[in-house]
Amino acid sequence: MNRLHRGIGMTSLRTRDRLIQRLRSEGIGDLRVLEVMRNTPRHIFVDEALASRAYEDTALPIGYGQTISQPFIVARMTELLLESGPLDTVLEIGTGSGYQTAVLAGLVARVYSVERIEALQKQARRKFQELGIRNIRLRYTDGGMGLPEHAPFDGIIVTAAPEGIPKALVEQLKPGGRMILPIGRRTEQVMVRVTRTVSGYDRELLERVAFVPLLGGMQ
Ligand code: SAH
Repeated sequence: MNRLHRGIGMTSLRTRDRLIQRLRSEGIGDLRVLEVMRNTPRHIFVDEALASRAYEDTALPIGYGQTISQPFIVARMTELLLESGPLDTVLEIGTGSGYQTAVLAGLVARVYSVERIEALQKQARRKFQELGIRNIRLRYTDGGMGLPEHAPFDGIIVTAAPEGIPKALVEQLKPGGRMILPIGRRTEQVMVRVTRTVSGYDRELLERVAFVPLLGGMQ
């Protein structure tokens, strides 16, 4: 660890505690999620120029027109995913900075995460190595069709918004498995929890959100 990281680390423990207090006061109740987020250095996942803002509860740019999700949204999606108990394998669509991936990795046995922008995926891989996280498998691919070769999953998190619920992803959930995703157009999105049933799926519409769009192809 270099001096810069150590320096930020000292203050970030305190600022991270403040962020966790704030998430609690905003309604995040899952103590496991809060503890993992307390221990996950978000400043590592943003550009050094933005590191001092890493513990504000806002999305920040990560390049290539993408953003690292707001901490509240990361906490909320993670607690919604884990509400019914611990999960074994989870698929994330949209690795981005890798922050949400790292939080998941602290809570489930194995995380598969796919990203369509190779440069972001490479950066994220380096961060996981730096932090010694070993239960993440990354794939550079268009995640719109999921990751059939590793399906079925106990849970799926989608961190970019498709216009509707992608059937291919629902089919990669185990029965009883859950998917948390934003759906809709850029200006009117809603977070949805999908639960796979024997015959199809149930969906619950949750709060309004704003994510970057799920795009096709690779870059
Ligand atoms: N969880 C990330 C969110 C990054 S923004 C974080 O907090 O950093 C959403 C990401 O989804 C972007 O990196 C974008 O490139 C990626 N993405 C969009 N469409 C995709 C697709 N079809 N397949 C894989 N990744 C996709």
